[in-house]
Amino acid sequence: MNETAYDAKLLANVRPADWTNPQPAPSYNLVVLGAGTAGLVAAAGAAALGARVALVEKNLMGGDCLNFGCVPSKALLRAAHFYTDLHHAPRFTGRAPVHSEPDFAGAMERMRRLRAHISRHDSAKRFQALGVDVFLGNGTFADRRTIEVAGASLRFQKAVIATGSRAAHPPIEGLAAAGFLTNETVFNLTERPRRLLVVGGGPLGCEMAQAFARLGSEVVIAGRERYFLPDEERDAAEILADALRRDGIEVRLNTEVTRVTLRDGEKHVCLVNDNQETTVAVDEILVGVGRAPNVEGLNLEAAGVEYDHEHGVRVNDYLQTSNRRIYAAGDVALERKFTHMADATARIVIQNALFWGRKKLSALTIPWCTYTDPEIAHVGLHVAECRERGFPLKTFTVPMSDVDRAVLDGEERGFVKIHVRDGTDTILGATIVARHAGEMINEISVAMVAGIGLKTVSRVIHSYPTQAEAIRKAGDAYNRTRLTPFLKSLSRRWLAWSR
Ligand SMILES: Cc1cc2nc3c(=O)[nH]c(=O)nc-3n(C[C@H](O)[C@H](O)[C@H](O)COP(=O)(O)OP(=O)(O)OC[C@H]3O[C@@H](n4cnc5c(N)ncnc54)[C@H](O)[C@@H]3O)c2cc1C
Repeated sequence: MNETAYDAKLLANVRPADWTNPQPAPSYNLVVLGAGTAGLVAAAGAAALGARVALVEKNLMGGDCLNFGCVPSKALLRAAHFYTDLHHAPRFTGRAPVHSEPDFAGAMERMRRLRAHISRHDSAKRFQALGVDVFLGNGTFADRRTIEVAGASLRFQKAVIATGSRAAHPPIEGLAAAGFLTNETVFNLTERPRRLLVVGGGPLGCEMAQAFARLGSEVVIAGRERYFLPDEERDAAEILADALRRDGIEVRLNTEVTRVTLRDGEKHVCLVNDNQETTVAVDEILVGVGRAPNVEGLNLEAAGVEYDHEHGVRVNDYLQTSNRRIYAAGDVALERKFTHMADATARIVIQNALFWGRKKLSALTIPWCTYTDPEIAHVGLHVAECRERGFPLKTFTVPMSDVDRAVLDGEERGFVKIHVRDGTDTILGATIVARHAGEMINEISVAMVAGIGLKTVSRVIHSYPTQAEAIRKAGDAYNRTRLTPFLKSLSRRWLAWSR
């Protein structure tokens, strides 16, 4: 199967050319606007509970995550890491590196194949089979109780706005004229850009810079902040900067991109750092400087839904908008724009909108991960947030170089850092930097949601050798702090007496 066929398979699932919208029902329990993760989870969940549901999608079912986000980016990163492992063969075998030129086109083709395969979960036909009325077309509110799509009027008891977000376009002089890539176009590339400038030092920028560098592009990454991932702990961001430099990426932090000029097919980009101006010449520019909520063109005024262009649809803690019949979920309303947050908030909406639930956004424990190598994962509060809230905290840190499995795997860069409320074992938050940090953080999330303290975590037998042992070791470190000088001397005297 060639690439075109993979894309055709994807479209057959998420935007079938022969699709006919159904006859609308006289009234729906729930009308869902947008079929990204939030919309799909809301629609499937409500239909499974017996609700009459309509789902409206103007572009591709699956939204960003499947088509232009998590799925293609993680497929590409996996292929990129493979080439780096090959390059590091001497660390594992003591022999010469395996010389293999990264196959960029092959990695892209693999990504398209896997994305097409996964798309069956989000297909229009699957949702139709689940009992959802799927309408393909641009949805807009006609009034406080009606959404219009492709000439049909969908009357609702409740509705959920799940229209997601899009790449923010920075106002850089000459950028639009020179042309640039965003997450919506970068995965269409079939040829490797020889030189790539990534603008933005957030998760998207860091992941894509590493993926393209490992697949053979010369990459420069420019970020306005002094550190990558400004939301993360400083030491985690420093390890990431170091890792990107090792990949041969030119790191330009505390740097403003001010101007782009097109000359002889090259993009000449002006970068300013501490009033010093330099120019880099590249073939492509990828912009990842944040997300803008999709609130335009929905006629939210007619529905009585308040919003703004920076933060999106305004919701209360129950995800209800200023129109009490209308809720919002996912990127369009949230500060934390992640697929698992789109999923979690859609579940809240089902309960609150259809069943008098009182589930709260503020009650969620939210993990996230940046999938670079090493990965940077976090859950709960950061040190600064603990201080702001006046929580006295104690931190337990275990370097991955102290964990046998990480050493054996050659993956000892990073750490597990767990914050507890001082004087207790209550976990307030954790940051993990490790090759599999995204998997490891889930153990801490489970503990936090279930109210399990670090003392109990240390009692859990962890299989040996695993990288998650680092978490148990943090628990052991906590336990050692409970051994006061008095208890220590008592124990010493008892053991001396019993010899
Ligand atoms: C490159 C990249 C990588 C990412 N990687 C990760 C990751 O690894 N892990 C993670 O958790 N998150 C990741 N994210 C974030 C994740 O993709 C989003 O948080 C998630 O897709 C949000 O889901 P959503 O349903 O809110 O919105 P979306 O997925 O954006 O879906 C919204 C849908 O609404 C439709 N729509 C908009 N307006 C209308 C209208 N008027 N009528 C009908 N339909 C409409 C859109 O076409 C779209 O299909 C990544 C994002 C990017 C860009």
